[in-house]
Amino acid sequence: MLRIAIQNKGRLSEESVELLHGAGVKFDNVKRKYLVKARNFPTEVLYLRDDDIPGVVASGSANVGIVGLNEVREKMGDSDAVKIVRKLGFGYCRLCLAIPKNETYNGLEYFEGKRVATSYPRILKDFFSKHGIKAEIAEISGSVEITPSAGMADAIFDIVSSGGTLVSNGLKEVETVLESEAVLITNPKLSEEDQGILNELLFRIDSECISRGKKYLLMNIPTASLEKAIELLPAMRSPTVMPLAAEGWCSLHSVVDSSELWDKVRKLKEIGAEGILVLNLDKIIP
Ligand code: ATP
Ligand code: ZN
Repeated sequence: MLRIAIQNKGRLSEESVELLHGAGVKFDNVKRKYLVKARNFPTEVLYLRDDDIPGVVASGSANVGIVGLNEVREKMGDSDAVKIVRKLGFGYCRLCLAIPKNETYNGLEYFEGKRVATSYPRILKDFFSKHGIKAEIAEISGSVEITPSAGMADAIFDIVSSGGTLVSNGLKEVETVLESEAVLITNPKLSEEDQGILNELLFRIDSECISRGKKYLLMNIPTASLEKAIELLPAMRSPTVMPLAAEGWCSLHSVVDSSELWDKVRKLKEIGAEGILVLNLDKIIP
């Protein structure tokens, strides 16, 4: 039985549940319950605060966890107490140093002798010591961004996603220390049975991650334009081409990235494509 720890409520919860559901692991999403057994896969889901996930996986109380890389680095440093086995492509954010917006910034020296407030003291301490900066680190668990205007700190080190919170607190971002996203971590010592379950889960998660943001395209195209169309659509191996009853035409099927969809559609129309269908795609099994 593989035990997977995920965040109970917060920014990573919904997408963690969606990822597992997409991988065919069915369980009731009742967060009032602390531990839920999956109905059709030998796993159970443990709902926790994100701060506790790295430690619980390191101790073996859970075998696997889904958590922000920021929490993993803060709790574990660079140690190999947990293994990072996948980056999951959601929960993007960065850990940044920010200072009052009217200050002049001329490099990391700025922080020498300054007081910096943060909820990530370990990452910050490692960063400053790597760069030979001696600064005072004030650990605070929330509302870090108000500390400079409240006279509690000279600067902050905090999570940023859009930067709006910084601006509204009169701060500006001056250094990015860590780029983070949700990651899948495992205890380094899994039983053979759990490793087998994990391998199956990873296979399914990989297929989920590949399929995300992809569309299935079908169209009719003049045979004369086929070569150009195939150049535009480098599908997994090669696009599927089928002749049509109407002479000089064929039907072309392919998969494209949603971000490129409209650009590709325009180019395909320019070379004579007609009746283009764009379909949502459920899974790509590589
Ligand atoms: P918990 O109660 O579980 O301790 P929390 O308040 O620490 O929750 P959330 O705010 O839910 O945590 O954030 C969880 C994770 O989401 C962060 O550790 C980070 O990896 C990621 N994240 C992505 N964008 C942001 C953001 N704008 N602010 C904070 N976290 C973000
Ligand atoms: Zn937390």
